Amino acid sequence: MQIFKYIQDLQDYLNQNTNKTIGFVPTMGALHEGHLSLIEASNRQCDITICSIFVNPVQFNRQNDFDNYPKTFTSDSKKLITAKCDVLFCPSVNEMYPVKVEKYFEFGPMAELMEGRHRPGHFNGVAIVIERFFEIIDPDYAYFGEKDFQQLAVVKDLCKQIGSKTQIIGAPIIRESSGLAMSSRNLRLSEDEKIAAANISEELKYICNNAGKYSIDELLNNYKKNIDANTYLVTEYIEIADGNTMLPIRNWEDSNYLVVFTAVNVGEVRLIDNMTIIN
Ligand code: AMP
Repeated sequence: MQIFKYIQDLQDYLNQNTNKTIGFVPTMGALHEGHLSLIEASNRQCDITICSIFVNPVQFNRQNDFDNYPKTFTSDSKKLITAKCDVLFCPSVNEMYPVKVEKYFEFGPMAELMEGRHRPGHFNGVAIVIERFFEIIDPDYAYFGEKDFQQLAVVKDLCKQIGSKTQIIGAPIIRESSGLAMSSRNLRLSEDEKIAAANISEELKYICNNAGKYSIDELLNNYKKNIDANTYLVTEYIEIADGNTMLPIRNWEDSNYLVVFTAVNVGEVRLIDNMTIIN
């Protein structure tokens, strides 16, 4: 695997491989099987897979979250070699943003609700970094996990807005055997917190299995009651929304693409998860 820190070196490599299909997997490191599933998807579809590791400061709205974001570079690069990733691109903040970026994108409700409401500026920061990566790499395909469901929708919209040729591919959430959605932030959980956090997916499953049997309000209230009853967990939001628009749904008949979304604080750590109820 080739490792590049500088844009020029990566672009020199790309210029020697202009006849190859390029797949791109952007990450913030602390890699787990969720990330590696994206590398595998790219390897299946593309000649060359490029993974980036870059903890993007402009998408964090809490300094504390940015400062404490796990950094495990040595084990990340080993995992990428084992996964047969071709290129690791790990630029510095100065390399990515030599001048401060002041740019404002408009995505409407999909970026204003749920994660957008609770993390002001987050999706704008995601759009800034993805536009920058696409400008540098110009990949044929880019792979994103459904774990960050709203992000996937925002990135698809971004591609339309900037007229990018890159095809955005979504990939299913990879979970621990306990059901807990894999996340780099899980590294910050104690053993007890990790056990508690497995309740999130259990409660989401309960909602999926009981859709239509109870009202939406009953299921959302029940989720909040059960999650908040656990000493380690505090619900930030729980919402059933249309999977295309992200607009909240109040009646089961209002859409035939329903996804349940949640964010839960586990001590200092904020986790998100979602499950498709019907599509
Ligand atoms: P991150 O490093 O958290 O920015 O994530 C990089 C990419 O990996 C994003 O497209 C995420 O949606 C995806 N990802 C993170 N966790 C998972 C997971 N458990 N399953 C599938 N994809 C994931």
